[in-house]
Amino acid sequence: MAVLSDLKPGNVWKHFEAFCNIPHPSGHEEGIAKYILDEAAKLGLATRRDDVGNVVVVQPASAGAENAPGLVLQGHMDMVGVAAKGVTHDFTKDPICCLIDGDFVKAKGTTLGADNGIGGAIMLALWEEEFPHPEIEHFFTVNEESGMDGAHGLQGDFLKGRQLINLDTEEFGEIYVSCAGGGDSVLSFSAERAAATEGAETLLLAVGGLKGGHSGADIHLGRCSGNKAVARLLSAALDSGLRIRTLRGGKKRNAISDFAEVVVDVPPGKGEAFRAAVEDTTAVLKSEFALSDGGLEVSVTAGSADALPMTEASTAALVRLLIALPHGVLAMSADMPDLVETSTNIGTVETTGDTVKIVLLTRSAVTSSLAMVKERIRTIAGFVGAAVEEPQGYPGWKPNMDSRLLHVGKEVHRKMFGGDPAVKAIHAGLECGLFSEKLSGVDMISIGPDMADVHTPDERLSISSTAKFFDFIKGLIEALAKA
Ligand SMILES: [Zn+2]
Repeated sequence: MAVLSDLKPGNVWKHFEAFCNIPHPSGHEEGIAKYILDEAAKLGLATRRDDVGNVVVVQPASAGAENAPGLVLQGHMDMVGVAAKGVTHDFTKDPICCLIDGDFVKAKGTTLGADNGIGGAIMLALWEEEFPHPEIEHFFTVNEESGMDGAHGLQGDFLKGRQLINLDTEEFGEIYVSCAGGGDSVLSFSAERAAATEGAETLLLAVGGLKGGHSGADIHLGRCSGNKAVARLLSAALDSGLRIRTLRGGKKRNAISDFAEVVVDVPPGKGEAFRAAVEDTTAVLKSEFALSDGGLEVSVTAGSADALPMTEASTAALVRLLIALPHGVLAMSADMPDLVETSTNIGTVETTGDTVKIVLLTRSAVTSSLAMVKERIRTIAGFVGAAVEEPQGYPGWKPNMDSRLLHVGKEVHRKMFGGDPAVKAIHAGLECGLFSEKLSGVDMISIGPDMADVHTPDERLSISSTAKFFDFIKGLIEALAKA
């Protein structure tokens, strides 16, 4: 039963509700791809698909605009499936049930998929509009949310246009011009273990009470990394002759670690020196992070001796590695004030057997800077003989303040809404990073209507802002129809 049929613009909401009725979590985009291809066929529009499953629908230029440079509109077909506690939902089979709550469209107990279904619905609605426009390639990618497979698999010649508007950001009145690339460094440190020292005390040193947060969006807040804090505590106490048994910290590579725990053996007679060093360093950390992470707590309690302790040499090497590895903001952008250009995050540390695995996620808007930081991490790891793996990452999108799309977009926004839009950059990934690498010379911006709490069951999409956004994108395309 249609819930959104009274909302305006009618065609946008018709297609959005159709998307909601077709299950489309990441990796299961076939149903929605078929709907898009069928709708295009009904209107006689040419379509093509590539090997990874991306779809293009070509809307020919309106009469008189044949010579204007071609435009690509782009969104991703997949959505993140998250159900509220106590809600059973099979995202590969069950439809999303929409409801209207004031100015918002929401889903009953699940994510809505406005990210990025509204982008796709707007593209389909544009096919039925009569307005001046250049040739538009409507480009729908697969699996953005869990690996950017569609953008990774894109071949540069799949698209003709070299102006691209990505419809995957979440605030109306903002024009995004840059995103960060990202890449993991996975370090494996081989620990040497030996029999425990007779009479040694086994202790658990724990760091907690931290805020954590997103390793891109929150990295500039200067919060305390649990993994860095534990390294500093251990470093200060190394003279006590301590030996690490196990070390772990952080839950996710893309989150600032909000805890760390280490089990150590402290030789007989050195307990007091160990505790004093921990206490002093705790006071230092508390004062350093008083404003940014005031809840910091450090505790020393009895630990359990379930693995042999590492040798003193191995312990020292591991502590020095964690001290030397970079963490936090490494560079600010010269193009845009307040934008973090490059950062890295020691996300997780985990001990399995004799191997301590350390995962860092580095982000940068500048691809060469990202590569440089990864090289720095590799070099530091090499000093202690730790192996490094670097799984496939994604490149950044550097801001171009001379962009034609940006200038026209600002002008149209000013004319239609009487004010300048905010020009923004995001210190996290968008598909635009990969597009900037694959589509040589491409000019891009990223825009979208207001939505909130995406990737959660509270995800909601503003109805009024969707209407304004639809008018804006039509106005923008019309301006681009003038060659
Ligand atoms: Zn998205």
